[in-house]
Amino acid sequence: MNREQRISAVKSRITIHPPEPFRIRVIEPIDRISPLERERALNESGLNTLLLDSKDVYIDCLTDSGTGAVTQSMQAAMLKGDDAYSGSKSFRKLESAVEDIFDYKLTIPTHQGRGAEQLYVPTLIDFREKNYGLERSKMTVISNFFFDTTQAHSQINGCNIVNAPIDDAFDTNKLACFKGDLDLDMLQTTIESVGAEHIPYIVMTITCNSIGGQPVSMANMQQVYAIAREHEIPVVIDCARFAENAYFIQQRELGYEYHSIEEITKEMFQYGDLFSMSAKKDAMVPIGGILSFRNHEYFDVFRDCQNLCVVLEGFPTYGGLEGGAMERLAVGLYEAMRQEWLEYRIGQVRYLVEGLRGIGVECQQPGGHAAFVNAGKLLPHIPPEQFPGVALANELYLVAGIRTPEIGSLLLGRDHKTGEQLPCPAELLRITIPRATYTQSHMDYIIEAFRIVKENVGSIKGVRFTYEPPVLRHFNARFAYVD
Ligand SMILES: *Cc1c(COP(=O)(O)O)cnc(C)c1O
Repeated sequence: MNREQRISAVKSRITIHPPEPFRIRVIEPIDRISPLERERALNESGLNTLLLDSKDVYIDCLTDSGTGAVTQSMQAAMLKGDDAYSGSKSFRKLESAVEDIFDYKLTIPTHQGRGAEQLYVPTLIDFREKNYGLERSKMTVISNFFFDTTQAHSQINGCNIVNAPIDDAFDTNKLACFKGDLDLDMLQTTIESVGAEHIPYIVMTITCNSIGGQPVSMANMQQVYAIAREHEIPVVIDCARFAENAYFIQQRELGYEYHSIEEITKEMFQYGDLFSMSAKKDAMVPIGGILSFRNHEYFDVFRDCQNLCVVLEGFPTYGGLEGGAMERLAVGLYEAMRQEWLEYRIGQVRYLVEGLRGIGVECQQPGGHAAFVNAGKLLPHIPPEQFPGVALANELYLVAGIRTPEIGSLLLGRDHKTGEQLPCPAELLRITIPRATYTQSHMDYIIEAFRIVKENVGSIKGVRFTYEPPVLRHFNARFAYVD
């Protein structure tokens, strides 16, 4: 994009809801089963929407992970897959796309984001121990807010978790341009109190899913990286939604309004040593992930990750992906950064949030990939330990066949050492929007469903566990209503 095109792209934001910048040419039929059938389906799923069968769901807002549309170019690229076990052409294509876009040199494909996590988490911990002699019980990792699988991988490897969101990040009444920023004071105090040698890595999650798809500013990424370098702590960019983050920087951060998404992306990634990507989000692939290192500074770590990859994911030039999937991903990384698509996508989320607010449903300010409804506020009669987010998700499904997940106490879980519930800053419900999959009328339908839910909030019941899994409990938990 040249300068003129960029200016006109930025200035063309005249519609609240930009129309779809694509044509739909392959369609997947969906069915809406009856309310009685929905009640049966939810009961059989232990009142956990995550356990519903897809055939019983009308509009699926569970996640935007691997559920979005793929583009013609991505689909076409799959035919060029080279499935050589080692050093395939498809791997080289992915590796050079990563270098071109992010300026990162050492790449390992993985089957999805957590595939990358299971490589770098234990390896960085070992590296810290070897080089700085860390005391295992003090081992602590810090993030603006850990994504659930990143938290789980850190915990099963024995780390204490410190989430360091900025003040008011979870206050759904407060507006801020970059609610995803990491709190620098908290970072400094944590480093001072546990000692830098006990911190194997810092994770910058862009955008920050748990806070509500909220972006991180370039300034914050830069400052965190400077502090981390001073203490020789590696920074991992957890970047499932890198393009959405870049878009928010372009729209909101002074000095970036005429920068392209590509330019902003390249700059953001200078403020990290490695990145871990779930490619199922912005990169739009149904399956795939990437672990990549910026340069040779952490070459030893990279090599150990490669070795671990052989054991866990597959040979490090395919990492659990077939050739075609790597080709598709290489294209998806570029497609993710299209200005007009990002504009449309973020516009769709904004449309939904504004519609919900219009009928008096309190939401987190619009973020990248989802509307986050304040379930705690909507259901004040349900205490956090009865999971208002779950109660609301269940009601929304019963009323309208819409599937959504809780983002609150259930998701956050327990302290893995004391077994106590971790204090949760907000009880939210996430209405996640898969990319280019649902239209404006689906958004209107969701808003209508909330209107009906709202009429009856007093009768919605909280839930209690009948089965609580030991880790990542929200996935397989089963519940009963509290009377
Ligand atoms: C989805 C996601 C992950 C985990 O990736 P999977 O592909 O689901 O394994 C990690 N971090 C963030 C921020 C994510 O959104």
